[in-house]
Amino acid sequence: MSDFDTIIKNGLIITAADRYVADIGIKEGRIAALGQALGNAAEIIDADGLWVMPGGIDAHCHLDQPLGDGAVMADDFHSGTRSAACGGTTTVIPFAAQQKGQSLRAAVDDYHRRSEGKAFIDYAFHMIVTDPTETVLKEELPALIEEGYSSFKIYMTYDDLKLNDREILKVLALARREGAMVMVHAENADCIAYLTELLEACGKTAPVYHGEAHSTIAEREATHRAISLAELIDVPVLIVHVSGPEAIEQIRWAQSRGLRVYGETCPQYLMLTATDLDQEGFEGAKCVCSPPPRDEAAQQAVWQALESGVFQVFSSDHAPFRYEDPKGKKLHGETACFKHIPNGIPGLETRLPILFSEGVIKERIDATRFVALTATNPAKIYGLYPRKGTIAIGSDADLTLWDSRARTTVRNAELHHDVDYTPYEGLELTGRPVLTLCRGQVVSRDGRLAGEPGFGQFLECGKPQPARPRGEAKGF
Ligand SMILES: [Zn+2]
Repeated sequence: MSDFDTIIKNGLIITAADRYVADIGIKEGRIAALGQALGNAAEIIDADGLWVMPGGIDAHCHLDQPLGDGAVMADDFHSGTRSAACGGTTTVIPFAAQQKGQSLRAAVDDYHRRSEGKAFIDYAFHMIVTDPTETVLKEELPALIEEGYSSFKIYMTYDDLKLNDREILKVLALARREGAMVMVHAENADCIAYLTELLEACGKTAPVYHGEAHSTIAEREATHRAISLAELIDVPVLIVHVSGPEAIEQIRWAQSRGLRVYGETCPQYLMLTATDLDQEGFEGAKCVCSPPPRDEAAQQAVWQALESGVFQVFSSDHAPFRYEDPKGKKLHGETACFKHIPNGIPGLETRLPILFSEGVIKERIDATRFVALTATNPAKIYGLYPRKGTIAIGSDADLTLWDSRARTTVRNAELHHDVDYTPYEGLELTGRPVLTLCRGQVVSRDGRLAGEPGFGQFLECGKPQPARPRGEAKGF
């Protein structure tokens, strides 16, 4: 009889804290031993020359989310988690979204039906709270948080999603009372509506004007307001998908004052700029997302904030809409005003390879920070640690083996999502995940799928347990 189900031998293990060469013994889906000469196993994986990191946690992605406007997301739990697995991710946290007027419980139940039996990797749910009624605040949310849905997103923009300041305060107070993590989409809705009206009035309706309507000032103002409201209630808050220096400055300011304000950014703010929205015909629609990509100076600021610890989380914000599709980007045709283009870009599968190549290989961030941003911090912030997000005895054997020298070119034809484009087509990358295991089972190998739908399990999240934000040159 074998000591272990699997032993991964001689890999360079990298966690958020350490790097060392050791063998990993896996038994019943968990890491059972770390060491040398561990004994025998049913399967031996030779990881000599490879980096072994915790499987990625994509803590911000949208899959099969019901939308009110006739648009349909291209990826469900099947294609979305398939794509994530092939990109080295082993856990996703998409959103069970409440429609205004709907019960939050009903939204969560519906989302379980949508995910049941489809996932290749493990998943938890955030919620989206759009209608904080008395019932939601007093009954549904406290019960749901207790049951393992311990984080939710609120919006300060989009007419069908946004909360006003009073509602935000109520929701933050609830989060403080029940110990939940609140994620905030911070953009000033009235600024955007005002600018949109002006642009439309002079015929500026092409996709490129989406970037002008979603001004950095509108993002900065809402970020500051979200921080202030959270300070008033004295509750941690996480600002999602931060696009540039204006909002970063607000977060850094809050952190320097000792506030528990966390920040997240995404690949689009490192790799794209406003000029990607300015393409022939309607092509720019492919890169319409909110907040929009900014300029090169903003990219530099985002890199700097990743390196210095202003950001704790790096997510994809995968929001999949097909380009050639009347239910996707062309919902209102090719001449539609930018305000009618479904917002979002795909990125589940390219998230880790992009940060690995552009960040670690180009020495903008070190490998331990890569692990912190893509796995360990999200696990801590959303109550999945230490089951997920690290390599430790007792943790799930969620592991991604990287060949740090392999060179690849991003081709949509080789990705596993159901979107008909990637904004990163032709991008050349160094380093790629060559083997990904979720609870000890191989889910992808050499960029190809190796798992089974339905293997992925739903995860109940515990209470968030984030480290205090480090900010600029401040210790934890
Ligand atoms: Zn958002």
